[in-house]
This record gives sequence, C-alpha cells and structure tokens, in this order.
Amino acid sequence: MPVIQKPTDAIVRIHKTTICGTDLHIMRGTVETVAVGRGIGHEGVGFVEQIGSGVTNFNVGDKVLISCITSCGKCAPCKRGHYGQCRDGGWMLGNTIDGCQAEYVRIPHADNSLYIAPTNIDDEALVMLSDILPTGLEVGVLEGRIQPGHTVAVVGAGPVGLAAILVAQFYSPAEIYVIDRDENRLNEAKKMGATKLINNKDNNAVQQVLADTDDIGVDVVIEAIGLPIGWDISESIVAAGGNIAILGVHGHPVTLHLERMWKRNFTMTAGLVHTNSIPMLMKAVATGKVDPRRLISHHFKLSEAKHAYDVFTNAAETNALKVILTNDLSKPTPNPTSA
Ligand code: ZN
Ligand code: ZN
Repeated sequence: MPVIQKPTDAIVRIHKTTICGTDLHIMRGTVETVAVGRGIGHEGVGFVEQIGSGVTNFNVGDKVLISCITSCGKCAPCKRGHYGQCRDGGWMLGNTIDGCQAEYVRIPHADNSLYIAPTNIDDEALVMLSDILPTGLEVGVLEGRIQPGHTVAVVGAGPVGLAAILVAQFYSPAEIYVIDRDENRLNEAKKMGATKLINNKDNNAVQQVLADTDDIGVDVVIEAIGLPIGWDISESIVAAGGNIAILGVHGHPVTLHLERMWKRNFTMTAGLVHTNSIPMLMKAVATGKVDPRRLISHHFKLSEAKHAYDVFTNAAETNALKVILTNDLSKPTPNPTSA
C-alpha cells in the first residue's frame, strides 16, 4: 500500500490498467532506469483514495485518468507544456517509482498529472489516453509534421503504431503504409485506416515501399518498433525533405548513414510524450472522431497479470493488441453471509 510522501501526492485505487510495449522492453532489461523489483505500469484509470494536503484539483472518490507522465506544472519545461521533460517529473511511473499494475499507486504532483474522467467516455477507452494515443499523436503525428496529402509509413503495427495510424487520420494523409511481419497486425492496421500493407517477412520492406513510390520514399516515417532495424528501414524509406519520428523505446545503438543522408534535408525527432494532448483527445473520443477501444484485444483480472504478460508477449500467436487488466478490488466482493 503506497503512502502519501509529499503534500502534492495522491493515492489512486486502480480500476483498469494495461501493459505497454515499453513494459516488455523493461522485462528484457533494456531500460536501464528501472531498478530490479520495481512495480511497473504507467497507464490506468482509477479512483482517488487519498490526497495530500497540497492537492487542490481532486477530491477523494473522483474517477481519474492517470497520465503516464508526471509533471509539476511549474518548472520551465512544464510552462511550455513539455511535461515529459518536467524537472521534477517526466516518466516516473513504473520507471523510477512504483507504477500502475497494482491495486494502488502513488501519483506525485497529482494536480497536474491526473485528469477527471469524463462521464461520456468508456473506462477502457480512457485507459488508451494515458499513453498510447497521446504518444501516437504527439511523438508520431505532430513531431512528424503530417500534413494533408502526405504519404506516411508506420514501421511496426504494434499497439502504439496502430494508435499512430488512428490519429494520423486527423490530418488526412494520402497514403498510410504500414510495415510489419505479422499478417494479423497488418490486417488490424488496415481496419484502422492503413492503405498499403507491407509484409516484411522477407526483409524487403524497403524495396517494396520504394517500388511503390517511384523510388521517392514517403514524406513522414513513424518508427514504432524500438529496434535498430526500425531505424534502418526508416532511414531508407524517408523521402528527401521528409521527417522521421521515433516512437520506439530504443535499448541499442543504431547506425546513422550520414554518408548518404547528409544531402537529403531530412529531420529526425525522438522524445517522450508530454500528454498535453489528453484534453483534446478526450473531446475527440467523446464525439466519436476516434475510437480507441479498437486497440483492445484481451481482458484479464489484475491477479492474472502473469498470464496477461504471456498473452501480450506472444502476440504473433495470440493476436494480442492492448490487454486490459481490471483490479480484482473493482469487482463486487461476495457477501460471506449470503452463502
Ligand atoms: Zn507506454
Ligand atoms: Zn515541471
């Protein structure tokens, strides 16, 4: 049971949480900031259980969305809306402090890091707004500067790649290529709006995209794998003057072929999500502009987390996208006297 450590903390009882691809990177040991024994998870919807004396925006009992990013709202990066770079926050949950795959979680800087759950959005849809939908939008679509008529390629059709495909359509690109080795994920991507499916099982995605674009490449590449091959493909298919937006969580160095890229006027962006798009995304979800429930494939109880991890890890066999974990405490407890 976490306890209030600072007046600006809140304790939230988790209602629903989920597993992120980042958690798999953590399990593989490639995220060096995560200490052994850390409780992981950085997404969720829950109920405020306790507040510190300095919390003014929330009351006990409020249903809240937890941002994957903790932010003070007061430092220079926060003043610019760059919450991911908050000098007393950033990505803390399930990284440098215990996270959301638990019955209760401590949320530092609660006033700026929680959002009241709108009553017109389904709880599970809302969980997708903790991280993957804002990440797809801010780090992929906005950093990649997608404009109407652009050709876009999303490298990797895992949940965050699919989220990027969903929100890329706010900007009406002409084509959305999606590259993956998993036929099921490619088909899911098509249902969510991808227009060109590139199966990379023979390692020829680059040739396929170049052949389809008259050797020009695409205006915007969104890299959503987090492995060196993701960078290699991105670098090879970005058009001259195009942008590469890195969504993937990278644990290994990559090679930038500057000897051929120096003259191509391309840009590359990478970084943490700020989640400052959450209020806008809440409106877009509430009015049906985007339906994040399409990203959810499986449901488990929190106590089944180990099985849920197996299912999520073996997505090629299980066709898993996002898996929802519901806190066992959220279910009505059987009355012992009624039996
Ligand atoms: Zn995540
Ligand atoms: Zn800050």
